[in-house]
Amino acid sequence: MTDPGRGPAASSTGRRILLLVGSVGAGKGTQAAALSRELGLMHLASGNLFRQALRDGSQLGEQARAYMERGDLVPDEITIGMFMHELSQPAAARGAILDGFPRTVAQAKALDATLAERGEQIERVISIEVPVEELVARVAGRRVCPVCGTPYHVAGDPPRVPGRCDNDGAELQQRDDDRPEVVRARLAKQVMPMLEVLEYYDQKGIVQHVDGRQPIEAVTNEILEGLRAGW
Ligand code: AMP
Repeated sequence: MTDPGRGPAASSTGRRILLLVGSVGAGKGTQAAALSRELGLMHLASGNLFRQALRDGSQLGEQARAYMERGDLVPDEITIGMFMHELSQPAAARGAILDGFPRTVAQAKALDATLAERGEQIERVISIEVPVEELVARVAGRRVCPVCGTPYHVAGDPPRVPGRCDNDGAELQQRDDDRPEVVRARLAKQVMPMLEVLEYYDQKGIVQHVDGRQPIEAVTNEILEGLRAGW
């Protein structure tokens, strides 16, 4: 019998391991924060973990540095080792939401094998889906205050005076990374491997596809509802 509160693929250790998948601009970070709060799970985002390791000057940071500077993937062994280390921390006792990893089918297979050695498995893969042109518009509308760092969005969260920060009146800027042509290029690089990873987990029947065009709260509720229903 499956525990209806847990879904069909909870680990025998009782920990919940969820995977969050979505392109840049799909709202993955926002949903990760909400789900982490609601479910008491640790949010483990690979890019953030690597950047933190770089700042700390740790051995992991040194191993990852050259790859990150070239924009290449860090080798699987290092990446998986990092996640396994994080998953062994007390903060992950109830489980974790993985974000940014696995990014390739090879990583997915290696992760599954490593989890299986510990009697664990991924319970659910949550895929937040938004059409490409909407993603480009979302990311291209982001602005940030160069003085205090406050983020805005020209359509979704505009400043009181167009182009000026509410806090200090500084002229808002667009990050180079957020320009439409750069966003399209980033998306093009991400999409194929992401679809392959999704297909791999779809074959296991554990992917929840969620329409990311809905308001933020509706997306969160749909995900939570799906998890509760063991859908
Ligand atoms: P991100 O902020 O997610 O774009 O990640 C920043 C950098 O961290 C990437 O360019 C990679 O060098 C590294 N990285 C993040 N996730 C992974 C992963 N799953 N596998 C290998 N390298 C990764």
